[in-house]
Order: sequence, then structure tokens, then C-alpha cells
Amino acid sequence: MHVAMTIGQFLDRAALVYPERVAIIDEPGVEGSLGALTYLEMKHRADGLAASLQERGIAKGDRVAMISANSAKFLLSFFGVSGSGRVLVPINYRLSKEDISYIVDHCGASLVLVDPEVKDLIDGLTVPTIVLDGVDDAALFAPLGDRPRVEVDVDENDTCSINYTSGTTARPKGVELTHRNCSLNAMTFGWHLGVNDRDVLLHVLPMFHVNGWGMPYGATAMGARHVVLRKVDGNEILDRIEREGVTVLCCAPAVVVAILDALGTRRIDAATTRQGVRIVVAGAPPPSKIVERVETELGWEFIQIYGLTETSPLLTINRARAEWDGLPPSERAALLARAGVPAIGVEISVSEDGEILARSNHVFRGYFNQPDATAQVLEGGWFHTGDGGYLDGAFTVITDRKKDVIITGGENVSSIEVEDCLFGHDDVVEVAVIGTPDERWGELVTALVVLRPGASTTKEDLIAHCRAHLAHFKAPKRIEFKDHLARTATGKLQKYKLRAEYWPEVTQR
Ligand code: AMP
Repeated sequence: MHVAMTIGQFLDRAALVYPERVAIIDEPGVEGSLGALTYLEMKHRADGLAASLQERGIAKGDRVAMISANSAKFLLSFFGVSGSGRVLVPINYRLSKEDISYIVDHCGASLVLVDPEVKDLIDGLTVPTIVLDGVDDAALFAPLGDRPRVEVDVDENDTCSINYTSGTTARPKGVELTHRNCSLNAMTFGWHLGVNDRDVLLHVLPMFHVNGWGMPYGATAMGARHVVLRKVDGNEILDRIEREGVTVLCCAPAVVVAILDALGTRRIDAATTRQGVRIVVAGAPPPSKIVERVETELGWEFIQIYGLTETSPLLTINRARAEWDGLPPSERAALLARAGVPAIGVEISVSEDGEILARSNHVFRGYFNQPDATAQVLEGGWFHTGDGGYLDGAFTVITDRKKDVIITGGENVSSIEVEDCLFGHDDVVEVAVIGTPDERWGELVTALVVLRPGASTTKEDLIAHCRAHLAHFKAPKRIEFKDHLARTATGKLQKYKLRAEYWPEVTQR
């Protein structure tokens, strides 16, 4: 028998098995907050959302964009939008208006949902928009009531979401993930983490980032509880973990640093330690000192995964083995600082020139409306990650990034986009944008700039110029003035040489 693997089934199961259990605790005290919802209420609201979309003429395959910080409504959209065969387009709410209008236009969205706090981002859009303030969206998110449930035949190879990601080009590309991709990623991830019906998931990771890496699906399927967190703050994370009995959270290494900073002299309460918190980290290589501190100071289990938006994302996982139990903390940390071993159903290989390649059911369908770019990354039947590394037995070790992308605080920034912006300044004659090592952010967006002779432009002027034209997280935090930039005989910038100066004793470039 073949039954289509679709993510809608996850919520159907939870509502059947755990109808009365609290499914979601929304962020309290914010406009449009839904408070606490049981799994049955979550299902009625997701079904209500699907019905409202249908009433608005939004049909199977149509795109619905979501620009929001984490919220219960975002969670509902994974099921009400994708679960009913519509395509969810989660957008990073920290992008600039220009980026957002490009994405909305490129994906051909029929409707844009926006968080009240960032509603200015939708000014000037010509497609219908709804503000998630509890008033404008009241009908959209109303429970199904006595309306008929939308029946749509969703196939596992239908598109579930389009997740825009900054790659090697200045413009973000739309990563099309199918129901099969997202379902298998969620199940495999959940299996590796041992997600179960006693888990409480704190949504630290932005839900727009690869659909919260797929945890919203997996945790729902098991009837775990979702605790929504809107803003990343180390103290708040520790408070919520204690107060809500959180057992699992996912985040970038920069967030781990924020949690450890907040820890300071604060004592973790013994009950929290007994909860057995697992913290899953990805997005950049975590320094082993951080891994060690998580285990020794917080008493939490540190788990690393590696993957990309294009791979839904799970490719490899590193979770301490029984054999490592007796090792000193620093040795365990060194072992855990590697990206990990292939997740179930994933094959990893390394090309002759040191690029990590992958094959798996989690690998995407392609870039939306970009067949050439798709063919390029899927050449030879392997997905080309653009990451450099090697295999140490079964373990993948990431050493380098071949693509021109900087990852700062877990979010991608295209160097080319920042270079384009700096070139727009009259006094800039040459520029190279690279990532330089930084304890907190992983990498700092750093611009090496050659100014027009006699120009009096300051570093602050250039940063202000970028902040005026780009999303603020993309603007360089560091600017270095240079007399010239080294180039090859054919005039190409050799970024790895420019980077070398800043990464002397760091092995992970
Ligand atoms: P994104 O598509 O935004 O999720 O970014 C994916 C990129 O993040 C990968 O290609 C890597 O460069 C980087 N990345 C993700 N996880 C890890 C990890 N565990 N270690 C090193 N780099 C990582």
C-alpha cells in the first residue's frame, strides 16, 4: 500500500491521540497572542485557516507568505497552509523591504501575512495582506466551526514550502521543499533526538529558518508541547526553560553564547537539570569550549546537526555515544564539535576538490523557477553543499565554505549583495566582503574597502550607508581600509587569501 507522506497527518494524529493536551503556549502579552491551545483547538484553528484560504479563492499550490517572529499563528500556518496543499513561504522578518518585495513577487504570493511589529514591511505591496494583530486576521484564524473541512488531495511530492535563502547570488533563491522532504526530515530528526510525547519544545530557532528545521512538524506528530518564544534573550530562555519544563531547543551557536552569558552567577535549578534538556545546535561550527560549557555549566546535552535549507535540513548529527561517557569534558567536547555522522537515509561523500556532497530524501526539489541553478547544485545526482570538509571515518568535518556566503548569528548573508551595496557609495572604488571570526556571531560581516584617493568617508559613514540600503543584520560590523586588494592574473579577488589574514590560528575557515 502506498499512502502519501504529508505533514498534515502529523496534526491529525496529535488531535486524535492527545485532544485535551496543551499543544501550544503562545508568547504572552503580545498583540494577537492566542494564549494556550490544546491539540484539538490547534486542529480546529488549522482547519479554520484552510477553510478561510479556500473562501478567499486561494487554491492548492497557491503561495501564502508569512513574515513574522515566532508565534502560535506561524505554527498553525505550517498545518493550515501547507497541510491543506497551499504552499507556505516563511520569510525572515529582519530582511529589508526591498528583499521582501522581491520574494513576494518572485514566489507569486496570493496573500501575505505579517506580524504587527513589522507591518511597515508590507507598505507598497500590491498583493492582499493581513496583519496578525487579532483584529485584521480574526476571521482568517477563526476555528473551523460548522464550516465544512477543506478536502484536498495532497501528494507527497507536492510543494510544502518555499524557503528563501541567500546563496552565492545577490538575490535570495526560493528553496522548494516537498511534503516528502519535510516529513522524512521531521521523522528522521525526531527519531535521532528521541522526541516523545513528554517533550516540551522551546521555539528559540526562528520558525522561518527551514520551517524551524522541521521541529514544529516532528514535535506535533508526537504530541509534544510547543512553547513560543518571540525574542532571543539568554535570561528569558533560562526563565522559560525553568518555568515551562522545557526539554528541547534548537538554535545557532550565537544563541548558546547568549545563554551562557546570561547564566553568569545564576544557579540552574536542580529540577531543570532533572528535566534532561537537549540543545540542538547548527548553522556554524560551534567552538568546542562552548560545547564543554553547555555540558559542564548548564548540565544539558549538546547535540550538533549539520545541513542546509536545500536539505530540509538534516544531513549529519553528532550526539554523544555511550562510549564517550567516561571521557573528560574537554575530550567529549572536541568529539562533539564535529558536524557528525550521516542521519538515517543520508549518504555523504566528498568531491575531489573537497566539497561535501549529499544524497537523501531530504534534498529539495529545486530552486523555484530557477532550473539552471537547480541543475548546477544537483549535478551528477549529488547535492553540492558548497561547504568544504573531509570525512574522519563516519564523521563529517566542515572546514571551509566554498560558496561566497557569510553566516552571522546563524543567518546567511551574501557577500556579493553587501559588495554591491558598498559599490553604490561614490567613494568606494574596490571592495571585498568576507566573514571574520567572532566568538559571539560565529562570523562578522567584514568589508575590506579601497576608497577613492582623497576621499574623507569614514567607516561609520559606510556602515550607515549599508544600514540604509540593506537589512541591518547584513551591514558590515567591521570595515578595514586598504590601499589595494590582491587579485589573480585574471583580475579575480582571491577571497581565501583575503580571509587568511583574519583566521591565522583558527582551523575552521
Ligand atoms: P542555511 O541554508 O541558511 O541553513 O545555511 C546552511 C549553511 O550553514 C551550510 O551550508 C553551512 O555552511 C552552515 N552550517 C550549518 N550547520 C553547520 C554546522 N553544524 N557546522 C558548520 N557549518 C554549518
